Amino acid sequence: MMRAADLDGAPPSGEGDLALTGGRIVDGTGGPAREGATVLIHDGVVTEIADGATAPAGYRVIDLGGRTVLPGLIDAHVHLSSLGLPSPPRGELAYEANVRPYAQAAASRAMLDGGITTARDLGSNGRELFALRRAIGAQLCPGPRLLLCGQIVSPTSPGGRLFSSMYRQADGPDEVRKAVREQIQQGADLVKIMTTGALTVPREAVEPAQMTPAEIEAIVEESHRQGFRVASHAEGLPGIELSVDAGVDTIEHGEALHRSPKLLDRMAERGIVLVPTLSVFELVAEIQSCCFTPMLVEQAKRLREDAHATVAAAREAGVTMVMGYDSHPHGANASELARMVEAGLSAAEAVVAGTSGAAAACALEDVGRVAPGQLADLLVVDGDPLSDIGVLADDARRWLVLLAGRPVAGRALDANDPTREVLHG
Ligand SMILES: [Zn+2]
Repeated sequence: MMRAADLDGAPPSGEGDLALTGGRIVDGTGGPAREGATVLIHDGVVTEIADGATAPAGYRVIDLGGRTVLPGLIDAHVHLSSLGLPSPPRGELAYEANVRPYAQAAASRAMLDGGITTARDLGSNGRELFALRRAIGAQLCPGPRLLLCGQIVSPTSPGGRLFSSMYRQADGPDEVRKAVREQIQQGADLVKIMTTGALTVPREAVEPAQMTPAEIEAIVEESHRQGFRVASHAEGLPGIELSVDAGVDTIEHGEALHRSPKLLDRMAERGIVLVPTLSVFELVAEIQSCCFTPMLVEQAKRLREDAHATVAAAREAGVTMVMGYDSHPHGANASELARMVEAGLSAAEAVVAGTSGAAAACALEDVGRVAPGQLADLLVVDGDPLSDIGVLADDARRWLVLLAGRPVAGRALDANDPTREVLHG
């Protein structure tokens, strides 16, 4: 486990004493909401959940007016390097590469606006996101806490040609081990691997494994020995089985799992987490179908059915599932939680999947709950996400986002809202 506060590029904490009164507290652990209590924050850390609506002397007081306060959302599968830029200027084929950092800054801002206070990026171009999180930490641009894998360790594959700077292609146990060490050298917090082909890549097959047991064992052994977790892109059963055998920490996508109750049981037993990324199937099948070949679009429609069936089966088997949006546009991440509810989770389970569950999957101990000792990464919304998960995905209902006690987004910061003065006091 690690502390989010210690992550490279962690945004600075707010200062002083802040009390959030008059709210309903949904603490992120799955229990019922707590009414009429006050969240006390000192220097960006929650110190106490006090009974009643009065704050100690000297605290700046924010009256939440019956709104719900919950942990800031944690997305365990994003790609900040995938930008979905608008159409290039007239007369140009594409934006020049120098535009990319500005687009990443905008994407980071959009995530905060969307209530995401921590994001685990599972594949970026070269080193660009290490620079981004330095910039966030230095307050050059606002953004969430970032856990980074750097480049994806992949066998030589069509995806490696398509996303050449996002993949570190490597073959054989020695070369994949070196590829892992390179990511650690760059500053990665975890290791991401491509155990099967990807649904977004022409001429890749999602069903068979594209790594050998010796390769994946070398990756997991090297990563775990050095204290790094492994996230495995695994869509078809052979790749998932290889990943589970080798002891990876999270299965990304995993849509075929509903066909193997045995593998689901093994994941539940070993505590291997599933990140079902329902939104990416929707992206390829519907939202951005124009950008993908007809074959990939048709395949995504089928796989979307699989992915939904897998969420229901994994829930039945007791497999932990967490939020992973893996999609566009940046900032609409919480729509993944609504999709998880459509697929069979209760709203309360989806809230856990986007807060304490995701924190545990990312091995972060000081975010994901509203509790003493946790960073004050908090989200305040109009309405009750435990009865309507759609509340979290609705821009109009996001009232305040705090990052280590600092106000960073939400309507409470609008120029005409008096709360703004108190927050910035
Ligand atoms: Zn992904």
